[in-house]
Amino acid sequence: MLLQEERVLVVEYGLRMLNGGLVKGSGGNISLCNKDKTLLAITPTGIPYDSMEPSDIVILDLDGNQVDGDKAPSSEVAFHLGLVNLRPDIISVVHTHSLYATTVACLGWELPAVHYLIGHAGSSVPLTPYATFGSKELSENILATIGIGNATLLANHGLVAVGETLNEAFSAAEMVEYVSQIYLQARAVGEPVILSQQAMDEVLDKFQTYGQQKSGE
Ligand code: 13P
Ligand code: ZN
Repeated sequence: MLLQEERVLVVEYGLRMLNGGLVKGSGGNISLCNKDKTLLAITPTGIPYDSMEPSDIVILDLDGNQVDGDKAPSSEVAFHLGLVNLRPDIISVVHTHSLYATTVACLGWELPAVHYLIGHAGSSVPLTPYATFGSKELSENILATIGIGNATLLANHGLVAVGETLNEAFSAAEMVEYVSQIYLQARAVGEPVILSQQAMDEVLDKFQTYGQQKSGE
């Protein structure tokens, strides 16, 4: 089977997405690209995460031809492929329907920098205009909206997050959900204070060296 390591990771993060409450049933989807092999591992369409096996993961080339796996790929294959082909830094794509981020998207709002942790996604999260799930139009809208950031809300649908690793894309999806909850709670009580671009530039800069740095590099 091709991309065995990627298959295992995609299944593992599918379960994390389900258990973390970011999706229900078979909602959302995940892909992980191997750019050296120019192949993409993507979740199959309509299979619940708690019964998904590594052998269910579909392997595509970067033109979208299925090269391994007997299941049909996610209905959102167009934007997964579109995103990995759009930017060299995008290796993984995580799409969720998490409650608070989707609520912000259903209000037709972007997500502003109400909390510095939005920095995992960018200095704000834009809103992709609505189009039917699985459509070419939705994919085109996402590619036109995402810019240089790591996430976009999807109007009346959910969220797409990207990263240089699956863990990074997943963290961006989690953080957008967390900040969306704070934003909605703050707006329910008063007028939230939004961080300036300068403040967010400092956060983004600091994120480059946050955490344990790898030794010997
Ligand atoms: P798939 O099961 O086809 O991946 O679709 C789920 C989804 O979230 C569509 O937007
Ligand atoms: Zn969806």
